Amino acid sequence: MEQVTQLRKAAVANVRPRSVVVLGATGSIGQSTAEIIAGSDGAFTVQAVAGGRDGAALARVARRLGAKFAALSEPDGYADLKEGLAGTAIEAAAGPEAVIAAALQPSDIVMGAIAGAAGVAPTFAALAAGRTIALANKECLVCAGPAFMRQAAASGTKLLPVDSEHNAIFQAMGDAEPAAIEMITLTASGGPFRTWTREAIAKATPEQALNHPNWSMGPKVTIDSAGLMNKGLEIIEAHYLFGIEAARLDVLVHAQSVVHGLVAFTDGSVTAGLAAPDMKVPIAHCLSHPNRIVTKARRLDLASLGQLTFERPDFDRFPALRVALDALRTGRGLPTVLNAANEIAVDAFLKRLISFHEIAQMVEEACEAALSDGVAREPDSIAEALAIDGAVRERARAALRRH
Ligand code: NDP
Ligand code: MG
Repeated sequence: MEQVTQLRKAAVANVRPRSVVVLGATGSIGQSTAEIIAGSDGAFTVQAVAGGRDGAALARVARRLGAKFAALSEPDGYADLKEGLAGTAIEAAAGPEAVIAAALQPSDIVMGAIAGAAGVAPTFAALAAGRTIALANKECLVCAGPAFMRQAAASGTKLLPVDSEHNAIFQAMGDAEPAAIEMITLTASGGPFRTWTREAIAKATPEQALNHPNWSMGPKVTIDSAGLMNKGLEIIEAHYLFGIEAARLDVLVHAQSVVHGLVAFTDGSVTAGLAAPDMKVPIAHCLSHPNRIVTKARRLDLASLGQLTFERPDFDRFPALRVALDALRTGRGLPTVLNAANEIAVDAFLKRLISFHEIAQMVEEACEAALSDGVAREPDSIAEALAIDGAVRERARAALRRH
């Protein structure tokens, strides 16, 4: 313990405090980020935190982290936020523009951990202002990948991947050129339905789908994981992030969630990123990049695991993965369409309006409809992506009303 404390002090001494903004501070990634920051012995200071609806929870995390500014997207929660911050000097604001103001507070790094396309505008605003982004919010890239990557290149800023698979791949890749990479493999735990029959999966309840064996996460990403839609979104995320086309992106089901991603090079070498399944590992990596901090994240103990298993994904039982891969291969506006339709479908499933197998079905129908009325162009800007996103949501909601 003594040694750990010394190591931590040494690590902190090497790095001046880094200022951080946390978008989505009350969520699962937000809370893990808060734990890393609170346990870092002053390696980080927090400029701003932002959340969606829960003003009381946002006030708690703002107090815990000593944030200067707390912004809530939903104005109805402002009274709770204000009350929770009473007696502090923490400034409070509410509304979507307040979340953007939080994203733009001067900082060294912005944790993008809002769930869904709600994160696109604030995360993009931070990127355009030249901030380094630790990106958990994969929907940003699925919805508007080309615009994000172009902006990152134009502002000369980094998008550091927090998603565990992409973080592992990022670390395993080193500074290899895309041409030196033969294949990138993302692993999938297989979720709670890994061994279930197609018929049983089709009838799964929200409770069963929310019962993830390896990870504790927010509801949207947990449902995505249960049907392997999450892996499809992640393949699209990897495509934009690493500039690698669909044919060089692969998925392996790996129930232990220990090997998160692999990079196979043209000379036959393979590197892999391993860690215990604990999001605090990639969060700490991104927040301190290119340095390393000491964390209390779970440690990997391979001997006690004994064996690691790998299998091919089953597209028949998990059609959502096929639908997502098809959207990437077709390209144009389809990843944007896929993302929007999936958000509506997951929400409808959680509200018990549709069954589990109808999630993939609804998303596929939205992609087919978009193709037939000519969403031909890849969205060039955030505005274009959000326009497609809005239209697809509208149409998906109308389909639900008829359902
Ligand atoms: P949660 O649902 O747990 O948290 C979402 C957060 O976003 C909450 O703080 C929520 O606040 C906030 N939020 C929602 N809408 C808005 C808005 N319009 N403006 C500001 N804040 C908003 O999600 P997770 O933490 O699980 O996931 C976050 C992102 O990270 C997702 O994109 C997910 O795919 C990705 N990810 C998550 C992993 C995990 O282990 N959890 C792993 C890898 C990636 P409130 O609750 O008040 O609405
Ligand atoms: Mg992931």
